[in-house]
Amino acid sequence: MKCKFCDSETKVTDKRESHEGTRRRRECLKCKKRFTTYEKPEEKDIIVVKKDGRREHFLDEKLRLGLIKACQKRPVSMEEIDKIVEEIKEKLLKKGKEVKGSVIGEMVMNKLKKLDKVAYIRFASVYRDFKDVKDFKKEIRGL
Ligand SMILES: [Zn+2]
Repeated sequence: MKCKFCDSETKVTDKRESHEGTRRRRECLKCKKRFTTYEKPEEKDIIVVKKDGRREHFLDEKLRLGLIKACQKRPVSMEEIDKIVEEIKEKLLKKGKEVKGSVIGEMVMNKLKKLDKVAYIRFASVYRDFKDVKDFKKEIRGL
């Protein structure tokens, strides 16, 4: 797993199993920052169906990283990002086993729209794969 601060390689310094899942302490090999990741068993039950029909497991770390990137240098705290991830995960678990990737993208964008407009545009530009400045203008007008 990559460091959530600088994207470098990390090592696991401690690993604990509990009925809630696996808890890992990680340390970045480059910036030496430490953080904890949780892997809950039920997370494996959410399957994301991508545009081309491929399926992959939903990973909340991946979603969190996307949010951190979108919120870089914005007044959004890690707590707020974690809250979005938790809320989306909860909703997905209620929805059932398979969810379209586009549904998750829209959920994230709805949350970001309320939280921070710049982060929202950043996320939307990656997610919607904006081709040129026209797409940006269209999205900004919609705010
Ligand atoms: Zn790092």
